[in-house]
Amino acid sequence: MIVLKDNCAKAGIYIHIPFCREKCPYCNFYSVSDHSRITPFLEALLLELDLRSRPSMEVDTIYIGGGTPSILPSHTIGMIMASIKKNFNVLDGAEVTMEINPGTFSRERFFHDETNRGFFHDETNRGFFHDETNRDDVTGDGIAGELKALGEMGINRLSVGVQSFQDDKLKFLRRIHSSAKARETLKAARDVGFGNICLDLIYGLPGENTVSWRKDMDAALGFMPDHLSCYMLSYEPGTPMYDGMKRGVIKPLGEEESAALFRDTSLYLSQRGYFHYEVSNFARRSHPMEAGGKDFTGFARRNPQIEAGGKDFTGFDRRSHPMEAGGKDVTGSSHFVSRHNEKYWNISSYLGFGPSAHSYDADKVLRFWNVSDVPGYIALLRQGTLPVGGREVLTREQYLMEFIMLGLRRAKGIDVHGFSKVSGHEFKIFFDNVIKRITALSWGGFEKKYSREVFALNRDGWIFLDTVTSWFVDQL
Ligand code: SF4
Repeated sequence: MIVLKDNCAKAGIYIHIPFCREKCPYCNFYSVSDHSRITPFLEALLLELDLRSRPSMEVDTIYIGGGTPSILPSHTIGMIMASIKKNFNVLDGAEVTMEINPGTFSRERFFHDETNRGFFHDETNRGFFHDETNRDDVTGDGIAGELKALGEMGINRLSVGVQSFQDDKLKFLRRIHSSAKARETLKAARDVGFGNICLDLIYGLPGENTVSWRKDMDAALGFMPDHLSCYMLSYEPGTPMYDGMKRGVIKPLGEEESAALFRDTSLYLSQRGYFHYEVSNFARRSHPMEAGGKDFTGFARRNPQIEAGGKDFTGFDRRSHPMEAGGKDVTGSSHFVSRHNEKYWNISSYLGFGPSAHSYDADKVLRFWNVSDVPGYIALLRQGTLPVGGREVLTREQYLMEFIMLGLRRAKGIDVHGFSKVSGHEFKIFFDNVIKRITALSWGGFEKKYSREVFALNRDGWIFLDTVTSWFVDQL
């Protein structure tokens, strides 16, 4: 099969930390709230990184997600980062993202006895202690201290799971944090010098309207996030929220209300300088330091780390920030698009570590994934076995399906010539009926973007993304 090679040939690394303080009722990601295996998990994770070591593999994005990575103290993140750098060729300027959840930093500590057996240990002589006696939340300086340490470990992008700035919404979602804690965390993140912050929000809760949702968007915009991920609440089979819906206890928003909220989100954020580049994702078009060195957030300029050396955690010199020179960056859109997620959307190579993590080898068109089971993951690695739960070489149909589906989700659209190259079919002829249907509805069309001819959906098309996708897939 011909596989498209794009300018994203370098690999990404994903690390899955499968622990959460409590399980949220709408979430179907693999995570557990029993923390008793954190220490053996960390050891197993480092073993996996060693076992899959490829020092010549160039890596330009790292994403530490979960689960809730921020329940781990920063020094363990430092150990994970050191192992990644030991086992792979992490390029200068790599985007290194970590997910953090407000209210998850704690005084919980994992003590590493440097003098005794290093990081690994046997059961009788533990070099890596876990003290669960002191789990109260840290606040103020404590949060700032943890975040500062993360920056020093090489994390240069934070993805903050705020979800909402309204306590009644947070309560419905059964999130463990309050709105005040979210604000405190975001302020601390700016204060310590993070120049690339993504904020996750959830909307479309039962009964939600534009007024309520705009309150959240306005509160978020107050922090000048560099990236916003806005997810419509979905009801995933197997979750308590889904069961509640099935039992009639929870009444989801109707299709029309959901569509109106989606349209409003896209318009509202686009008018405020955000590039709606993927159905749920928005990237800020300008850098806060751009306008003559003025900092709209009022945070970064006061940061001594930036002021002293002219560098922040993103590694960019203020005077030569890519957005400052000409306002354009490589994507032609915004410097702040998630470079790591672009790997998934471009069907590029990435390696996933940790329970349930997926990997994709673009050269072999091979997808494989780890077991979704913390004890099983640990046991396999202790035996020196890779914890692979399954693998598949994508069929031509699967690959084309992904190519189409991922193209439809993005403002970049479907690369028309790329499709012809991988499928052997002329896009315009092959999908003639579907294209006519979409253009007649004014849901999208052909455009010249990034010096390529693409077929892209617009805002209205994205409202009906599932329907439109099924039209294409039926044709394959
Ligand atoms: S914190 Fe995130 S990963 Fe954990 S259960 Fe909640 S939504 Fe899922």
